[in-house]
This record gives sequence, C-alpha cells and structure tokens, in this order.
Amino acid sequence: MAGPGQILCRLGLHRWGRKHGYDDYSSNVIEWEQRCERCGKKKRWIEVKRDRRR
Ligand SMILES: [Zn+2]
Repeated sequence: MAGPGQILCRLGLHRWGRKHGYDDYSSNVIEWEQRCERCGKKKRWIEVKRDRRR
C-alpha cells in the first residue's frame, strides 16, 4: 500500500523511530541503528566513544 507517507519516504523524508545503540564495552565505538516506522528502511552509523581513561 502506498500512502502519502510512502511518498515522503521516496523523497528521503523518512519517519525515523527510536534509535538503538549497540554499546560493546570491548570496543571503542557505539553502533547505532534507526528504522523508519513507515517503510522499514534502516540506517546505521558508528559513533566513536570518548576515551575516558586518560
Ligand atoms: Zn521511510
């Protein structure tokens, strides 16, 4: 089904839901994932943690 929202998605205006972060203590990055509530498209990005040890 293609509603008005789907058109927005085609234009790249996704409706991003809440983001989930995968925070692994052994790594120095957080991997974020966010999903569009309309079309289900996922986007991922990596965030570098700050090094607090020094
Ligand atoms: Zn979308």
